[in-house]
Amino acid sequence: MPYIVRVKKKFSAAHFLTYYKGGPEPLHGHTFVIEVYIKSNSLDKGGIAVDFIEIDEYLDSILPDYRLLNEVYDFSPSAENLAKYFFDILKAKYNVKKVVVWETENCGAEYYED
Ligand SMILES: [Zn+2]
Repeated sequence: MPYIVRVKKKFSAAHFLTYYKGGPEPLHGHTFVIEVYIKSNSLDKGGIAVDFIEIDEYLDSILPDYRLLNEVYDFSPSAENLAKYFFDILKAKYNVKKVVVWETENCGAEYYED
């Protein structure tokens, strides 16, 4: 029986797209939200698929809180690229199925693998 565990986490950061409508985008900030989907086919004796707290703590260790993303990464830090980047990191540790990165309440991008 498959389960999907979902954990959301906010981080605040500045960024600019390196190319947007003909040139670099102006520097600005967001309170980003990352949403992680992790699949498990079983539960432990306590009824847990994957421990929320463990995922939350792991996200703390990889999220670039209060950073200028263009200084942290060597790619244009769009929501799309960030979703793929975090997916690849999480994949090494968890059975991650999807990562969503929200720039605003209404605009986000997801990366997933079947
Ligand atoms: Zn932005």
